[in-house]
Amino acid sequence: MPECPECNTAVESPFKTWSVSRKTADGETETIFGMFECSECGNRFRAGAKNTEVKKELSIRGVAEKIKTIEGEFMNTLKNLREKLKTLGTERANLLLEIDGLKKMAEAKADALESEVGMLREEVKSLKQLLGVGEMEPE
Ligand SMILES: [Zn+2]
Repeated sequence: MPECPECNTAVESPFKTWSVSRKTADGETETIFGMFECSECGNRFRAGAKNTEVKKELSIRGVAEKIKTIEGEFMNTLKNLREKLKTLGTERANLLLEIDGLKKMAEAKADALESEVGMLREEVKSLKQLLGVGEMEPE
């Protein structure tokens, strides 16, 4: 908090501020100056003001960067999820195809067994007829 050069009263906030930008080797530094008015003697003087606005701008920039990072991560997650879903979708389709194939195989096997059983029945029937036991054991 700056002090009045006349009576040393601390003056809390400036009634006017302005910033001065200076190019440095690192880039640019911004210094805020303020015009203060002493509440005790009414003296007006210039002094360095708090860099609240600069800090605010920096924190907004920080938040924007953070949001950008989070957005990036979110987009990555979405992309990964989309790829995973695509892979799972393909896998599901493949599994359904495989199940379908297995079902057909099972059906074919059942058909084959059924016709084999039918043939065996016929064989049993003709053997019974041949041996003359068919009439004694009605079905
Ligand atoms: Zn003063």
